[in-house]
Amino acid sequence: MNEQPMDAQPRNDTAHRSPQLQPDCARCCGLCCVAPAFDAVQGFGYDKPAQVACRHLRADFRCVIHDELAARGFPACAVFDCHGAGQRVTQQLFAGCSWTASPQIARRMFAAYGKYRVLHELMALLETAIQRVPAGDATRLQERLRQINSLCESGAALEATVRVELIRSNTLQLLRELLVH
Ligand code: SF4
Ligand code: SF4
Repeated sequence: MNEQPMDAQPRNDTAHRSPQLQPDCARCCGLCCVAPAFDAVQGFGYDKPAQVACRHLRADFRCVIHDELAARGFPACAVFDCHGAGQRVTQQLFAGCSWTASPQIARRMFAAYGKYRVLHELMALLETAIQRVPAGDATRLQERLRQINSLCESGAALEATVRVELIRSNTLQLLRELLVH
């Protein structure tokens, strides 16, 4: 995490990514500290159910133990990366609103975050892979990246007919095909 909001926030080097794939916790409402379930075995300090705020999350969405995550038993938070899904859901889909506004908004935000987190991670993988393949293959990856980003940009990713897990498996298959020889 950073000195802004909290969550399992990013300590990774994300500078090589496009801006929309870099977490911007100051423009998020701590979605990663609330929406997902986590447990101590995963490096999150204690067992927390989904859709419940972490006990260390402050009302302003900053992490109380941000500067001592690993020492306090939260090493997974120190390396967590939402690939920019958090601020995109908060700002683009909910106009800067917070999950604290109402239970209905919270449910919708958490569901959106779950989908966008997967799609943003795929886009980050694609961006990296594009730098490592021949031009012809890069074109295929760029097209997949464009398609996924379009789903996110339009909000169509939230439609029930859009099967995020299928997009994920197909994209990973494409990456394997082009990167593993
Ligand atoms: S300890 Fe809790 S509030 Fe802090 S970054 Fe991790 S999940 Fe978020
Ligand atoms: S979901 Fe992403 S942007 Fe939001 S607080 Fe967590 S790491 Fe930061």
